[in-house]
Amino acid sequence: MRTILLWMARNSWLRERLPRLGFVRRAVRRFMPGEDRESAFGAAAGLAASGQGILFTRLGENLAALPEADEVAAHYRALLDREVWLPREPELSVKPTQLGLDIDAEACFRHLDGLAARTAEAGTWLWLDMEGSTYVDATLDLYERLRAAAHANVGICLQAYLKRTPKDLRRLLPLEPAVRLVKGAYDEPSAIAYRRRPEVDAAYQALALVLAEAARDGRARCALGTHDSGLIERIAAFAESADVSRGSLEVHMLYGIRARELARLQAAGFPAFTLIAYGAFWYPWYMRRLAERPANVLFALRQLLPQQDDARE
Ligand SMILES: Cc1cc2nc3c(=O)[nH]c(=O)nc-3n(C[C@H](O)[C@H](O)[C@H](O)COP(=O)(O)OP(=O)(O)OC[C@H]3O[C@@H](n4cnc5c(N)ncnc54)[C@H](O)[C@@H]3O)c2cc1C
Repeated sequence: MRTILLWMARNSWLRERLPRLGFVRRAVRRFMPGEDRESAFGAAAGLAASGQGILFTRLGENLAALPEADEVAAHYRALLDREVWLPREPELSVKPTQLGLDIDAEACFRHLDGLAARTAEAGTWLWLDMEGSTYVDATLDLYERLRAAAHANVGICLQAYLKRTPKDLRRLLPLEPAVRLVKGAYDEPSAIAYRRRPEVDAAYQALALVLAEAARDGRARCALGTHDSGLIERIAAFAESADVSRGSLEVHMLYGIRARELARLQAAGFPAFTLIAYGAFWYPWYMRRLAERPANVLFALRQLLPQQDDARE
């Protein structure tokens, strides 16, 4: 099921047609407050008032032409220029291919450089998402260049399912990085990625502990980007024996997924963040959310029926 859904995420024929279907549009609302930034701000206001950090991402990836990247960068700048703001500055999370990585890596770097400077002025952070494995080297290079350009306020996502990630983390640690550790959302072959859940979880835990110790010593920002609260608690228990407090272990979750669990972890002392996605280009992103939990497909199909409750976890 996961493989089929991830194939559907990449299929351009389906990408054209499925988002037009009413039941698909209704189902995506579970994970996305709306397509425009006003909806994203509306969803953020309540969460921010409860003390959570907010990350915004405008959905989009693999652009057809470079001018689209200029528009994306302008959109993010305008977002930071807003006068009506939240109790705490939101952070931005962007996909490098949304800023033209696979068309012109230099242009992508210039956009990221500009956004890093602008987020720093606003006193907040810019995060680089990690996409499919063919983009990992280029994304690490971008991150290193941004840090070399004296942007301390930039973070990067690393994927625990990739067998290369322990080496990548070791490469980044001297930079005192901000790392969002996730399990990984793409369909990667077993030659380069763990595909079984116990293996991915074990890899995640080992990486998280290295990152947690660096965070304890003020040498990293450690963000656990997962909804797996059992895993988070296990990591916190191991980390505690290495004198890492919960306050050094940020938990980042996606809007619409396990919100109550995030609030519980926040009350238990973990700094909590919700990543809110919005935008018109949601199809591949939404298909990856379905692939993470095939039960979500049933939820989507139930939207074919009239007047369904939006039953959240
Ligand atoms: C803040 C954040 C940023 C991310 N950024 C990236 C990125 O840049 N690159 C990347 O490859 N991946 C990214 N991901 C996705 C990540 O790689 C996983 O695919 C995703 O988080 C699902 O794995 P999990 O860690 O939640 O654990 P799982 O073991 O998959 O899930 C744990 C539990 O969480 C709940 N859950 C998880 N996913 C869903 C869902 N879709 N719908 C409903 N319930 C669900 C279920 O109850 C499940 O039992 C990000 C995830 C988060 C939270």
